[in-house]
Amino acid sequence: MRSPAWLLPARVLMSLPAMCALAAGTAVAQAPGYIVQQSAAPCLRIRPSPTTDAEATSCVPPGTLVQAVGVAAYWRQVRLADGSIGWAAKKFLEPTDSAGAVVETDEENAWLEVHVVDVGQGDAIWIHTFDDNVPGNGRYEGKNIVIDGGPDVADAKNQFLQYLLTRAHEGARIDAMIITHPHADHYPGAEGILKHFDVHEYYGSGYPKDGPQWAAFRAQVDAESSDGVPIVEHIGLDSFGTPDWGSELKVQFLYAYPGTPDGLGSGNTLENNASIVLRIQYGTQSILLMGDAEGKDRDDPPNQPKYAERLLLQSADSSALHSTVLKIAHHGSETSSTLPFIDAVDPKYILVSSGRKPFNHRFLPDATTLARYCAHNPAARIYRTDQDDESEGRTVADDADGDNIIVRTNGHVTTVEAYSSGQHITQTACVP
Ligand SMILES: [Zn+2]
Ligand SMILES: [Zn+2]
Repeated sequence: MRSPAWLLPARVLMSLPAMCALAAGTAVAQAPGYIVQQSAAPCLRIRPSPTTDAEATSCVPPGTLVQAVGVAAYWRQVRLADGSIGWAAKKFLEPTDSAGAVVETDEENAWLEVHVVDVGQGDAIWIHTFDDNVPGNGRYEGKNIVIDGGPDVADAKNQFLQYLLTRAHEGARIDAMIITHPHADHYPGAEGILKHFDVHEYYGSGYPKDGPQWAAFRAQVDAESSDGVPIVEHIGLDSFGTPDWGSELKVQFLYAYPGTPDGLGSGNTLENNASIVLRIQYGTQSILLMGDAEGKDRDDPPNQPKYAERLLLQSADSSALHSTVLKIAHHGSETSSTLPFIDAVDPKYILVSSGRKPFNHRFLPDATTLARYCAHNPAARIYRTDQDDESEGRTVADDADGDNIIVRTNGHVTTVEAYSSGQHITQTACVP
């Protein structure tokens, strides 16, 4: 397994002269550094590892100058004036001289990470872009993006919130929150993300959903702010534009609710077909995230795309669907993944976010759907957040059991790290 980005050695992040200066014990001011912001008052906690689980070993007041050593998602590794090294929350550190800093980014190790977190039946995805430790130079900005939030509102049950909190800290920055569509297996967990983090931008499909729970969620998005600045809301495909998550990435919103239900079914089918579809290209590698967008009715043959898949395939540039990694639509349901769609995407890695909630005595994913991907490309690999849940006898009460999937790409290779009940697994065949 390649090292995750946060294990990058300091040499990646600092200029050679700065390295030499450090080795010689030169004054703090000569290396790239940060000033502790006033907002950290009374003091900024310095921890032995990048998590709030690690108890602080010291606390430095606003105005203190510290040296840059390394980075992790949400954190900076810093050297204090006494020579000790520790981790501090990134949002409280203002860079001193980053404009002049020479950063020799090792592009082989500039990993984009996509975490598909096991929340049982539902979707919850965290994307972290590579961080070169130079804010504002337009690339490798260390952005944090969440897509959906899973089904659980209560903090203690909210696996997505807990997953992020062990890697971040209260009040950490989320650059963008995308809620694909207003189904209860996708957005309720995002309430906890809004409450515990500083969300800066919100993307919603624009589907006109009725009901008090959704209305309350939307009111929460309207009410939240960070440092007095309300969340910037983008509602509907026309308002999405092209987000700037770093010049190394090409980010495309390929689809969202088109503003009319025509040709998109009704009821739950229509609501699934309101999903935001997102594609991220990084070098030669790409990931397509489908939400619950559908392609057919359950009993239809798989060769005639309908609904969102039809619109995606008919869109001007359907070749743009081709992707290394596919977060499969609708938890792997037989209502999506038609053959023309699979041909167009041609994924090497198929990610399934699902659990053990029965739908008319049936669980998702459908093996028939997954079999189409394996038939298309037997070398493909399928990773699931319900890994082994059936054989473990799990139910909806305990199916969020750590079957997490972490995709990493440096723009020319992609790796997948997968787990079953928290234990690392490898997939040696395409298993429907
Ligand atoms: Zn769903
Ligand atoms: Zn849905």
